[in-house]
This record gives sequence, structure tokens and C-alpha cells, in this order.
Amino acid sequence: MPNDRAIDVERIVREFCKLEPMFIPDLNLTGKPLLGLFSPALNAILVNDCCIDVRQRFTIAHEIGHVQLEHRQGNASSLFGPETLEIFGCTEEDEDLSSMDEVRAESQAKLRRVKEIRANKFASHLLMPGGLVRQVWREERANLEQVASALMVSKEALGYRLNSVGLS
Ligand SMILES: [Zn+2]
Repeated sequence: MPNDRAIDVERIVREFCKLEPMFIPDLNLTGKPLLGLFSPALNAILVNDCCIDVRQRFTIAHEIGHVQLEHRQGNASSLFGPETLEIFGCTEEDEDLSSMDEVRAESQAKLRRVKEIRANKFASHLLMPGGLVRQVWREERANLEQVASALMVSKEALGYRLNSVGLS
């Protein structure tokens, strides 16, 4: 359970996204470890249960990003199943012979990377809204460790967010 200041990301998944987060030990796709995975088929967000809490929270927020930013407009996910992975394993899409075209493959890889970056930005904003970050930053007298702990995010993630709200 989050403290009284951190965003309750699991509650957002359940009540807003109507998805059930599932915590799976050693989550992987054909042996390749994954941090998280959104499965439209299961209507679930799968999270690697072996990661530390703040990592799991970021992964959940990241997967919500995929749900919000891509799934509803996307066409690829309905064709290829769960393709919005935190770490991309060998998916059906990877083994699609029509992607022998290297130029096309390269542009698809770039598109994936762009999607991942967008999901990360979404997660960062969801877990660390600007107003909340500024408030806790004041309350904790600009102590990075204490602000990260209050918001239940990693110091690294907080560092990037502080930069984007002009506090670092
Ligand atoms: Zn992702």
C-alpha cells in the first residue's frame, strides 16, 4: 500500500483502467525476462514480482501508458497479440517473414523505441505530477532521498522528473 502522498497506481489500474494487475515471479517471455507486460487478451497487466516495489510501481504506470497511448488506437496489438512489452522478446511480430525488409525493420524498431519512451514519460507524469512533486519537494526541504521515498519512486526516476519540472 502506498503512503498518504504517493500515487496509488494499483488503484488507478483497477478503478480507472478496469484491469487487474497480476504479480508473476520471474515473468518472462520464452526465457527472456520482462519487467511487465500488458495483455489485451487477458485484460491484465502482468508485473514481474521479483522487482523491488518502486520498480513495480513504475512498470505498472508504464504499462498503463501503453494501454492509454497505444492500445486503443493501435492496430498491431490486435494482429499480433501482446506486443506492448517492457522488454521485447521474440514475438510473433519479430518472426514475421514479411519483416525481412531491413529498412522496414529498422523503422519498426524505431517506432517501438518511441512507444517505450512515450510510455516512460506517461509513467513519470502519472507517478510524479508536477504539483505534487513541487509540494513534496518543499515539504522535504529538497532532500532527494526523502522525496523519492515519499513518492515511492526511484531516485533515478525522480531525478529526471525534477529536471523536467525545473527543480534540479
Ligand atoms: Zn513498454
